[in-house]
Amino acid sequence: MHDRSRYFAPLELVAWQSRLNPQIAETTELTAIDHLRQCVANCTACPLHTTRTQTVFGYGNPQAKLMVIGEAPGLQEDQQGEPFVGRGGQLLTAMLNAIGLTREDVFITNILKCRPPENRDPSAAEAASCTPFLHQQIELIQPHLLLAVGRIAAHHLLNTKASLESLRGQLHAVSNSPAPLIVTYHPAYLLRSPSDKKKAYSDLLLAKNTLYTSSNISLI
Ligand code: SF4
Repeated sequence: MHDRSRYFAPLELVAWQSRLNPQIAETTELTAIDHLRQCVANCTACPLHTTRTQTVFGYGNPQAKLMVIGEAPGLQEDQQGEPFVGRGGQLLTAMLNAIGLTREDVFITNILKCRPPENRDPSAAEAASCTPFLHQQIELIQPHLLLAVGRIAAHHLLNTKASLESLRGQLHAVSNSPAPLIVTYHPAYLLRSPSDKKKAYSDLLLAKNTLYTSSNISLI
């Protein structure tokens, strides 16, 4: 069990001690998520704060069993404040639907919470500055499984430069996360290369089976 108090302490919150009292636990946890969201909204830790319209914290269920992690917000995400909107977002929703999940069942976020100008790749320094927020999200939400969508998210989370193809089809251990990680294609890539949708579907089936095994009851 990870020590959540190290994340609550900076937020001046009472650490969530147990899920045995769901009412208290849920209230405290939602408050912690909201405070973390506020910390992100106020963040000026890297230069991207000067060019963002708004931060993009994440979307979905704060008690999700599956956390979807992309690389960074794009133009529409920056404008709307929600990750994975537009055509790529619609495809991600369809991908989740294909294994019986909705956007509201999972939690969707990115490595970076602010948009890099011109949608360029995140720099190593930007990713290093923002990753603690992702770790806190994982700590608070406690997903059973992480799904990295796209090469950049996978490379950052696994600290590797291996090809996305070689990273697919297996469970990876991730530092700072008790939940394993599965790698699949980014929806934006699948829009350009629809012939790889079948392979993405097999990744999602692996995710579904992993979730089912870990929860032993349901996926949501
Ligand atoms: Fe802060 Fe992350 Fe935005 Fe950089 S990208 S300003 S670290 S929230």
